[in-house]
Amino acid sequence: MAPSALQTEASKDAEVGFATESAPWQRAAFEGDGSLRRKVLAAAAATFGILLLVLLCSSILVVIVKTQEGAKADAAASCLLPLGGGSTPSGNFPQPPNFLSSCRKALKHYMAHQYVYDVETAVSAAAAWFSSNYPDGARTKDLCVFDIDETVLSNFADFIRQLDSGKPNQEDQDAGLDPAIPAMLKLYSELFNAGFSVTFLTGRREAGRNATVRNLYEAGFGEQCPDAAPDATRSEDLEPCYVKLDMREVNDTRIASIYKPDRRKQLQDQGFDIVGCFGDQWSDLAGTSPGQASFKLPNPMYYIL
Ligand SMILES: [Mg+2]
Repeated sequence: MAPSALQTEASKDAEVGFATESAPWQRAAFEGDGSLRRKVLAAAAATFGILLLVLLCSSILVVIVKTQEGAKADAAASCLLPLGGGSTPSGNFPQPPNFLSSCRKALKHYMAHQYVYDVETAVSAAAAWFSSNYPDGARTKDLCVFDIDETVLSNFADFIRQLDSGKPNQEDQDAGLDPAIPAMLKLYSELFNAGFSVTFLTGRREAGRNATVRNLYEAGFGEQCPDAAPDATRSEDLEPCYVKLDMREVNDTRIASIYKPDRRKQLQDQGFDIVGCFGDQWSDLAGTSPGQASFKLPNPMYYIL
């Protein structure tokens, strides 16, 4: 006898493993799964939404910070004075600082952020130049000339006090407490260890010699070498020493761009070959008896003719 339609459906259920008696709880379970799936989907959508919101807020925050930094950098640039100045044997005529006194915040921001990068950029360029031009190190008479203020030591604290008080201030300098400029200390030590002779040529006056000698030593630049031309064979752990600390005599009223080339000429006359010059002012580098290469460091605070 042929099976009825009901029997046929029951047989099909049995073949696929479903019994007609179990259909109610299976439906409930199926309905339960659907509810759970909806909840999972809802939770995933909520999580995704939150992540999207966080990402959006972070992006907005980054844009705001960058904009503020850009605005501060612009503020720093607008604080620079484009005024001229001069210096004569009878005194200076309007020779203002580079920076308006009302721009302390912009100056501090620059010094705390971009300044370090600008110094390191100059130092990297110098290191690359020396390693490509002197791959085997130096001879004893190969000399690097370093200015001091804003080149190897920083007067930033004195300068801020000067802006705050409106009066000249060099109390850290007088006390021998100026901190080293880290990237320059590293470069100075590396050049010394590569065999170069190093020397200081500063516009500081002889009256400040003791404080300067102490400051250079305590900041890590060593002492004056016992020999006029130290042996270029160095070991890595040798403490650096400098050939000379050239300072300005009390009655020397020449502008830096005359005084410094004159002292460089004296170093050449002693038999040194000036290889590199480092300074924060163009007057540290320009003029006669220049180095083969000159490296200018940033100084947003003042200029010297
Ligand atoms: Mg200087």
